[in-house]
Amino acid sequence: MTKDLTVYNSLTREKQLFKPIHAGYVGMYVCGPTVYNDVHLGNCRSFVSFDIIFRTFQYLGYKVRYVRNITDVGHLLDDGEDRIAKGARLEQLEPMEIVQKYTNGFHDIMRVFNALPPSIEPRATQHIIEQIEMVKAILKNGFAYEKNGSVYFDVPKFAKETGHYGDLSGRVIDDLLQETRDLKRQDEKNHPADFAIWMKADPEHIMRWPSPWGEGFPGWHLECSAMSTKYLGKSFDIHGGGSDLKFPHHENEIAQNFGSCGCAPANYWLHGNMLLLNGRKMSKSEGNTISPEQLFTGDSPLISKGYTPMVVRFFMLMAHYRSTLDITDEALLAAEKGYKRMMEAWQSLDALAGKGQTPSDIDQEILTALDGAIADLCDDFNTPMALAKLFEVVPRINGLKGGQIKAEQIQQSTLDQVKQVMGDLLFTVFGLREEESGTGASGTLDALMNLILDLRQSARANKDWPTADKIRDGLNEAGIVVKDGAEGSSWTVS
Ligand code: ZN
Repeated sequence: MTKDLTVYNSLTREKQLFKPIHAGYVGMYVCGPTVYNDVHLGNCRSFVSFDIIFRTFQYLGYKVRYVRNITDVGHLLDDGEDRIAKGARLEQLEPMEIVQKYTNGFHDIMRVFNALPPSIEPRATQHIIEQIEMVKAILKNGFAYEKNGSVYFDVPKFAKETGHYGDLSGRVIDDLLQETRDLKRQDEKNHPADFAIWMKADPEHIMRWPSPWGEGFPGWHLECSAMSTKYLGKSFDIHGGGSDLKFPHHENEIAQNFGSCGCAPANYWLHGNMLLLNGRKMSKSEGNTISPEQLFTGDSPLISKGYTPMVVRFFMLMAHYRSTLDITDEALLAAEKGYKRMMEAWQSLDALAGKGQTPSDIDQEILTALDGAIADLCDDFNTPMALAKLFEVVPRINGLKGGQIKAEQIQQSTLDQVKQVMGDLLFTVFGLREEESGTGASGTLDALMNLILDLRQSARANKDWPTADKIRDGLNEAGIVVKDGAEGSSWTVS
């Protein structure tokens, strides 16, 4: 049995009851990273959002085939150079070494965030044949034309004959003229809004394959059309990605699928929103940027200390995936408090017992909050609302633990339900892990470090700088970095 849920569809711009093509089964495609350097935090947020969507469907009883690609060819820079080829040139590696290196790094960071791997992770370069076949089909259907070894999608013809260009982005062709990126051979196109689905390779271009139109490489948008069709079929349930991919990438995917198969690829399009830093878009050139590693170690002037991966994941859950999420030190500190408070409540559950004989108001209140949390999750994956409902239960757990609520006031069945739903949501759906729990080896280390930092804090308060520095330097030698901030000192293993 599966449970119903509503999802916001970017295509219809409204929330809809989710109706899968095949009962009990979800086919989901999410655009993955272009692996030419480390994934940035905005990417991480997007993939964590889709991880929660993937997990939610599974929790609600669906079997999910989750396909997330690796872009390793065709994503060009403004000067026409392939991103992978540029990475290879700069790092003096083979293009496929670059691809492997940054794919490994991507997997590592996804594991750190406790994101589940997708069901299938296809690479664009392993699907050149499928992409060539798709170009052939689009040509055959009359929605593309060849010019000097390149093949272009005929946007005005497609728009006129099908009426489907702009379905997702709401853009019309006149709008597009301004925004079309000025790639090489722009003058070859019949119309500026047309886009390349196959590009002729210049002699210096190293990533190239033979095709019916000569040696070349696929356009960036084509890989997702070809690989989603191959693994999920011509029509599937969900296509997702960051909001920045809506146009042109996803709009062009729809055009290619229509152009080759005669139908739209996905019934529901889901888009995650942007990550901001101190209220502004992240930008390397303006210094307004932070990497996942900096966030974990605290090695950035923008934050007062390091935050654990699960605190960062918890922080991401505190905003809806369709809302922007603003990273500030304050918000991270609040997330850290919230995460610890939630985990402490969870950890104290085992020791609690209910002796109520009949349902009390407290029982009722708790059960309503738990039902509400699941209902929020089924309402377009509303994690902040679901978390808020769980936080309504926390004071009741703490009250029972602290003696303000008597065991006679709560039934054991209610506590069992709390354990079940809280455990399911926190770990299965939200994908959190218990960390710094105060037990086991890491718990002992935490306790020791707290003690040492307390001692150092006292030394500092007494202006005993030699002792404070001796402790810091000693820890440094042991591979532990101490960072002093406004909220006290924090530490990380270097
Ligand atoms: Zn894509």
